[in-house]
Amino acid sequence: MEKLKLKNFIMAMEKAAKEDFHDPKKCRECRDHESAIDTAAAERNFIRIKTRDTRQRVMEDHYHKHLVKMDSINLIADIARSLPRHTDDPQDIEDQLFKGLNLSKSVTQNRVNGNG
Ligand SMILES: [Zn+2]
Repeated sequence: MEKLKLKNFIMAMEKAAKEDFHDPKKCRECRDHESAIDTAAAERNFIRIKTRDTRQRVMEDHYHKHLVKMDSINLIADIARSLPRHTDDPQDIEDQLFKGLNLSKSVTQNRVNGNG
């Protein structure tokens, strides 16, 4: 009885040895599966890159808007700073105003002489 079991076992082993080993490269099912895994990985990678690019663009856009806004604020602040104060001498304010207009010499002279 034990001898028969052993014989069957040896025969099974011999049969198994004659069969080809499973080669994933020759197996259609394995190749399909591998291809699906590759596709999924490629999709994930694509999404990862696109997400990163989009985030980068949004951040750059945000930064740009911030710069433009800060530029406007700084410009307004500069104008506000350059405006005369109520404590300033009215004559100084007037002089600066006419200096800013860059009038011709004759007009400026008339103004100084009280003819303007
Ligand atoms: Zn297979």
